[in-house]
Amino acid sequence: MKVMEEIKETQIQNVGKYVNEIFEVVKERNPNEPEFQQAVKEVLDSLVPVLVKNPTYMKQAVLERLVEPERLITFRVPWVDDSGNVKVNRGFRVQFNSAIGPYKGGLRFHPSVNASIVKFLGFEQIFKNALTGQPIGAGKGGSDFDPKGKSDLEIMRFCQSFMTELAKHIGPDIDVPAGDIGVGAREIGYMFGQYKKLRGAYEAGVLTGKGIGYGGSLGRKEATGYGVVYFVEEMLKEKGLSFNESTVVISGSGNVSIYAIEKAMQLGAKVVACSDSSGYIYDPNGINLETVKRLKEVENKRIYEYVKEHPEASFQVGYSGIWTIPCDIALPCATQNELDKESAEHLVSNGVKAVGEGANMPSTQEAIDMFMEHHVLFAPAKAANAGGVAVSALEMAQNSARIAWTQEEVDGKLQEIMNTIYRESMKASEKYNVPGNLVVGANIVGFIKVADAMLSQGVI
Ligand code: GLU
Repeated sequence: MKVMEEIKETQIQNVGKYVNEIFEVVKERNPNEPEFQQAVKEVLDSLVPVLVKNPTYMKQAVLERLVEPERLITFRVPWVDDSGNVKVNRGFRVQFNSAIGPYKGGLRFHPSVNASIVKFLGFEQIFKNALTGQPIGAGKGGSDFDPKGKSDLEIMRFCQSFMTELAKHIGPDIDVPAGDIGVGAREIGYMFGQYKKLRGAYEAGVLTGKGIGYGGSLGRKEATGYGVVYFVEEMLKEKGLSFNESTVVISGSGNVSIYAIEKAMQLGAKVVACSDSSGYIYDPNGINLETVKRLKEVENKRIYEYVKEHPEASFQVGYSGIWTIPCDIALPCATQNELDKESAEHLVSNGVKAVGEGANMPSTQEAIDMFMEHHVLFAPAKAANAGGVAVSALEMAQNSARIAWTQEEVDGKLQEIMNTIYRESMKASEKYNVPGNLVVGANIVGFIKVADAMLSQGVI
């Protein structure tokens, strides 16, 4: 028995060494890309138990292939502003993995977008998309264009120029972009129009997140936010807890955040805070979602405007202070690395019971370690925010079949998908001896689906 244990220990050490070597190569090949390196490290570390059990993945160099994008496209995006000045931005599309379907993932328009951001997002998308159980590969893209303060016409001209290049690389069976930060229904509409004009064909399935009137799916807008709450509710249920009568803090006030707030409220929670890049609002009575929706979805205003209408609420500058507000459940739904160790310490000392990631990689590794150490229920982004891309895949299915499902049908399928992701991730965490660790569980489930497809398709 002792001998067996020793052999196992040596195997784990060897695989650990192998994984570290891969990570060293990733660092060397992708210097100055901290976010991409962070995303890769988290996944590689969690895959050690699978590689020990199944050495074929090592022999076939699946990890070495997985960390290298199939293709990275960078392009110039020239456009003319309202004063007649020529502006130039940089466009990206990373086509990371197509083992289980056409590349799929959003486009982000934000000044922070660069190769590191796009590659970290594209890498995460591999596992997230596989977890949904839908036939979608992984891609991501965007631009360092800042939509803030731009007129509607400037947005349109930028989107048209961006699509003029991107159109050469995408298609309903090739790569299907969607929205992300800074890209919503308006931008998708302009890009779809330009794609259609360039192709001279109505290929509805080339983009998702379209308007309902021209091929969009009911329930897509709400899907990421609702999905996060469905997933966290499932996780809470297992411990006899629920959103009902809980105090909740949700960062961000974009598409993910707004619909996470809506669903949490529908389940009986009191959501007391949300934020944007200007700062956060705290409303002890529970925030008024109609005001937030109007400010953000209609008027494009900053979140501090909220306190003008609701004097009982307060506004604070800065993004991390939101995590000092006591709550039972925290849902970071803003952006990457918005929740660091110090913020995690505040949440833990205030007695947080569960954290669910609506944004992509919002918690730093130190923050995740802190939650694990203190047995806070933790729903990682790849699993918890997969609802958006899952319903995008349902939009693709409806486009292919030229049919439209009802809101209830889509929402029912979304709930089923989120429950399945939860159950499969939980089961994997138990099978690989880290019961309840959904970070490891989700990575393993996503990895096995993609890795097995890659093995079947040979060395390509
Ligand atoms: N941007 C979202 C994500 O990170 C949605 C992508 C999509 O619908 O393709 O998953």
